[in-house]
Amino acid sequence: MPEKQPLSTRLPETHPVVCVLEVRNLSKMYGDFLAVDDVSFSVGRGEIVGVVGPNGAGKTSIIKMIVGLVEPSRGEISVAGYCMRNAPEEAKRLIGYLPEESPVYEEMTALEYLDFFADVYGVEREEARRRAERVLDELCLSHRERRLGEMSKGMRRKVMIARSLINDPELLVYDEPASGLDPITSAQLMEYIRRLRGRKTILMTTHNLYQAERLCDRVVILKGGRVVAQGGVREIKRRFGGVRYTLRFRSPGSRGSGSRVVTCTSLEELNAIAGEVVHSGGEILDIENHTSSLEEIFLTVVSGS
Ligand code: ATP
Repeated sequence: MPEKQPLSTRLPETHPVVCVLEVRNLSKMYGDFLAVDDVSFSVGRGEIVGVVGPNGAGKTSIIKMIVGLVEPSRGEISVAGYCMRNAPEEAKRLIGYLPEESPVYEEMTALEYLDFFADVYGVEREEARRRAERVLDELCLSHRERRLGEMSKGMRRKVMIARSLINDPELLVYDEPASGLDPITSAQLMEYIRRLRGRKTILMTTHNLYQAERLCDRVVILKGGRVVAQGGVREIKRRFGGVRYTLRFRSPGSRGSGSRVVTCTSLEELNAIAGEVVHSGGEILDIENHTSSLEEIFLTVVSGS
């Protein structure tokens, strides 16, 4: 663990210790192009937060600034109170990073590669081996003696996940952890990340809104470098989503299997329609309700603002 920093590099004492990552007013210009525009959010200890947004929304730029690979044009990032600008080494030591595309050391086997990174982080070999074997067991990685260059994309991603955990970091920053993987491997990785909930603090980007909805405690929705919505998944669904009721009924006097369908968006409307059907001698066959998914909300929020 890094030594306690001088006060100037740490957040004020009043800052809640439960906040592991804080991003404040972050902006990034590439030349005169504003890729990230005044983005603020935080991630509490043990939370999983998803950053979602269309291609080019600025997700990877934000991730790279958080892990210290790209210099912000404006704004502050702090990890467990360590400011990335003033105490980058201390902040980086608390982060396990999974880039979208990992440069791999093609000639190394998985365990040689993980040993190499354990040395880089100064983790004792035996302890590093235990950690690596545990993660690879949980991720069901077979053929560990195979060279990385001969592994499939999914196998390599599992090794990279193990690498992100080798120094037992407090914060995991995962850029598109399941991109380009088959559904089974993708589900395995997502299930593994789900099991880390509470033990690690996780920030991840994803294009898979279905997975984000099931996995993330909170989401930050980006468009054109700006935050267009953020909050708990339930809160976002309450604020931006809605319920749609579909009532199927048989008109008075109609015979056989013929039925009609009406859709409405409030209980009052539903009650009124059902009342009319019954009053006119029709028969209600069934009523279904449908709550907006995060994906539907995302499409509305991103196309609307
Ligand atoms: P994707 O979902 O496609 O990975 P993203 O949300 O991660 O996209 P970024 O990769 O952060 O988006 O890119 C945001 C914008 O910044 C894009 O318009 C991109 O072209 C631009 N950009 C990113 N990196 C650079 C760079 N090094 N130089 C110039 N422009 C860049």
